Amino acid sequence: MKRVAKKNNAGFTLAELLVVVAIIAILVAVSIVIFTGRLKETRATVCEANRNSLKHHIASDYMSGEIDVLTSGVLEEYIKVDEAVCPSGGSYSVVGSLENGFQIECSYHNGDGSGGDEGSRSVVTNLIEAVENLMDKKKLDKNYKIVKSFFENPEYWKYAEDVSMIDLFNNVDLNSLAKKIKEMNSNKGGDVESLKKSLEEYKNKKYKVVPYYSEGSGTVVPYYVSESSYEKLKKGENDHVESSVCYVDGHWYFNKETNYNATVISTTYKMTSVNDALKKAKEKKLTTKDAMEEYGWIQIK
Ligand SMILES: [Zn+2]
Repeated sequence: MKRVAKKNNAGFTLAELLVVVAIIAILVAVSIVIFTGRLKETRATVCEANRNSLKHHIASDYMSGEIDVLTSGVLEEYIKVDEAVCPSGGSYSVVGSLENGFQIECSYHNGDGSGGDEGSRSVVTNLIEAVENLMDKKKLDKNYKIVKSFFENPEYWKYAEDVSMIDLFNNVDLNSLAKKIKEMNSNKGGDVESLKKSLEEYKNKKYKVVPYYSEGSGTVVPYYVSESSYEKLKKGENDHVESSVCYVDGHWYFNKETNYNATVISTTYKMTSVNDALKKAKEKKLTTKDAMEEYGWIQIK
């Protein structure tokens, strides 16, 4: 008797077709903006396309029974596997549920969906937007050129707004932050109480928010500098100023640096480490939070 081999020849599955359609849509949208040279729109389009493809991927896995809950941890896994991140440094979150429909929102491109810290968040997002426009207009992609150009044009100075640490540290538990700093310094030196006291003093200081461009990741990173560092930047004296606070990927980070006996927190940490952290995150596919932590930055918000 002749046996007819039964081949699995069902053609494309729905999920595969969805992926193909999504990829074509991304290519078309990106090529249109690239040809017209609009960097800012390109980033927004890439961000939207990334969120759409994440959504398709998650929805098709849900339909085929591979996942049944969508937590931020699950989303994080898909972001890692698909390498789908916001090119403007926003962070993604889930709104809704698998059962009743969901969206992936971007902290940068969807406005502020995450609530809280509205004031300092809009200061940094305005700064990022201004710097991206400047880069676009002058075709710049090197940090020293971007910083130089930013401070040579008085029209941009208004984006370097005054910021107070109190707004940022509002709702931050200084005790656990002090503990984390001590732990990251291998528990050396003074006690948690003295670090906490140092943080209290730091919290009452005033700073300016200025831009740094991470060439390793293509991200604009706003950070806080003292008035005197700001004056130096304005004179073109330094393009890698020290700071203890910066804003990356929709989150605020604080540096663990302390004085030699770990009793007083330091404000003299070089921002170049942020570039290394973001480069490492990209190369080794680490989360931004993990890579930043390796380079001594603690996520505080
Ligand atoms: Zn985005």
